[in-house]
Amino acid sequence: MQNYVVFEKEKVYPSKIVCVGRNYVKHIRELNNEIPDDIVLFIKPNSSIGKPEFKRYDYPIHYEGEISFLVGKSVKYGDIIDASVFKGIGFGIDFTMRTLQKKLKEKGLPWEKAKAFDGGALFSEFKSIPTNMNLENIEFSLRINGELKQTSSSSYMLFKPLTIVKKIVEFFSLDENDIIMTGTPEGVGEAHRGDLFEYEIKDILSGSFKL
Ligand code: ZN
Repeated sequence: MQNYVVFEKEKVYPSKIVCVGRNYVKHIRELNNEIPDDIVLFIKPNSSIGKPEFKRYDYPIHYEGEISFLVGKSVKYGDIIDASVFKGIGFGIDFTMRTLQKKLKEKGLPWEKAKAFDGGALFSEFKSIPTNMNLENIEFSLRINGELKQTSSSSYMLFKPLTIVKKIVEFFSLDENDIIMTGTPEGVGEAHRGDLFEYEIKDILSGSFKL
């Protein structure tokens, strides 16, 4: 575990990132996917944290902007789940090789390579969660090269943040400093080297990455 993210100016080392797929209806429609009857989860390893090296891969890389949470303590199946499981909130980009993912999906194969590659998960600094924050109405947006591409709120999630944790620990125990990516709203598209990504989680944080 050598890759880190920053939480309130300190480096922390996530062992894994647990991601939610298909969590916003309009995004499910834009990719012509079915609305799932249960949560779709996948994992990106610590080695995926960073910026993608576009030249290294044969496939175009697409962005998905997502509200991301930093886990504050170890959480296992059967534990009580409340807002204290999260210590931080940040903005994350779930990079995806969409054409490879489609190819693998069509063959019924795992889409690991399209999601868990090096540089497949990029994060802002994580901030402490204000104590009275309503986790079910967090507004956020992503601009690329000045153009608004994604804007939504956790109120549109099919599975809300604490339900996501309950569903995750049925299969995967969480460790302190693991990250949960809560899924992307509509407006995904291709990313390019040199793009300027400007993100905002309303009243919490804003910033930018240059790819
Ligand atoms: Zn995603």
